[in-house]
Amino acid sequence: MKPQVLSSTLIAMVNHKHLRKILAKKIDDYIYKSIVDNDSEDLKEVAIKRYQFLSAMLHCMIKNIDRGCVSPEIIKEIVNVFVQNNLIREDQIYTQAVEKFKEKYGEYPPTFIVFSPTQKCNLKCIGCYANSTSDTSATVPYCYVDKVVGEVHDCWGVRFITISGGEPFTYKSEDKTLLDIYRKYNDMFFLVYTNGTIINEQIAQSLADCANVTPAISVEGFEEETDQRRGRGTFKKILETLERLRNFGVPFGISVTSTSKNVELLLKDEFYDFFFEEQGACYMWQFQLMPIGRGKDEMDLMVRPEQRLSLYRKWEKLLREKRYCLADFWNSGVLSRGCIAYGRSGGYAYIDWHGNVTPCAFIPYYVDNIYDLYNNGGTLTDALFSDFMKNGRKWQREYGLDNWKKPENWLMPCSIRDHYEIFRNSVLPKNAKPEDEKAKEALESTEYLEVMKNYDQKLKSLTKRIWEIEYLNKDATSSKIKYQNVNINIRN
Ligand code: SF4
Repeated sequence: MKPQVLSSTLIAMVNHKHLRKILAKKIDDYIYKSIVDNDSEDLKEVAIKRYQFLSAMLHCMIKNIDRGCVSPEIIKEIVNVFVQNNLIREDQIYTQAVEKFKEKYGEYPPTFIVFSPTQKCNLKCIGCYANSTSDTSATVPYCYVDKVVGEVHDCWGVRFITISGGEPFTYKSEDKTLLDIYRKYNDMFFLVYTNGTIINEQIAQSLADCANVTPAISVEGFEEETDQRRGRGTFKKILETLERLRNFGVPFGISVTSTSKNVELLLKDEFYDFFFEEQGACYMWQFQLMPIGRGKDEMDLMVRPEQRLSLYRKWEKLLREKRYCLADFWNSGVLSRGCIAYGRSGGYAYIDWHGNVTPCAFIPYYVDNIYDLYNNGGTLTDALFSDFMKNGRKWQREYGLDNWKKPENWLMPCSIRDHYEIFRNSVLPKNAKPEDEKAKEALESTEYLEVMKNYDQKLKSLTKRIWEIEYLNKDATSSKIKYQNVNINIRN
């Protein structure tokens, strides 16, 4: 199947209920053949996981179209942005921008950005990095938000943006909200992380009208866990919002932070069944809590290496057996062929509410700032070529991005969390500044360094053999490995 045919088959599948099952099977076969069968440049197991993820995405989307809780118009927009622009390259501006960038800089631009234009939030969740309900919270003025989005659209060919915060639905500047951005850039698709509590009928209607936004709503577990951290009554409000989004046909996802406290719940099927089957979530992203600073409480909340491994096995199983579109930003590193930070092609750079440009939302250090860049005649593109970004991309390439057939262990893909010593010694340059006091403390604390180093060593010892056997195929006869308290069955 050619990409053009894939695109029209997807649209036909959305439009024709009676043909949906047959066409979905055709599309699934096509994905399998193009990713796994056709002399994949990836390791076999990496290719299989990539296929399973896309197949799960298709499966969840169809299920929700069948239920009538996702608007076909929005799905067509997703097909436009992701299939037509990325595979078929029908969008001339996109193609020209990407190739021009490559010609000028010798490498392809990042595929997306994550942008937190405001720190302001209507909730005060325990331990939240934004944590600011005041009106004076840092907010990037609308004209700069517009400048950033315009630049990445025109010069990087970006057609997908993730908005985070603070709470994006509290954003207001120059009499505009972010809905004005979604409307203006209607050939782009936006994934918006939100606490979900202020999406009323009117906002849900606007999101449906824009047809290019999907909210990812944050929970901590069920009612007890969510209300404990986010405040009483929050979970109930979230469920009301989910119902509203279903009624307006807006596809939504769930975002959850895994900690040592809620990990037991995240190892149970009922958590995923509730959001995917009962609530109609199209996807779920898991983020393991990243401790910054030397606070012991926060350190204790970090998911332990053994727990992380259990979550990895859970993710594999849910993807394979239930076809839930689920990704865990550390355990699912094989899907993206490792770390996606530092503005690499296929990856992203992050801009916070002070306008600081960092390699990733989880790396709280920066060299450049958009106000300084723009006010001095520069561009956001300049930030991609700081030593910080270049060091990170060099590390990514050496770690496996340049050698898909024999990468280093992508079960520990994260430059800052899984390779902290290397990050400190070889990636973070001297001129990088911390985003806040906690990030500064983390740099100065020997205790933090030790905790992170121990974590990395333990993780390495737990995942090394799994990587070698299941991905590099080094010892195909082994069927079972025992790692300390964790029993792991390895598939043949
Ligand atoms: S630095 Fe870590 S969290 Fe950020 S993209 Fe890379 S792997 Fe993911």
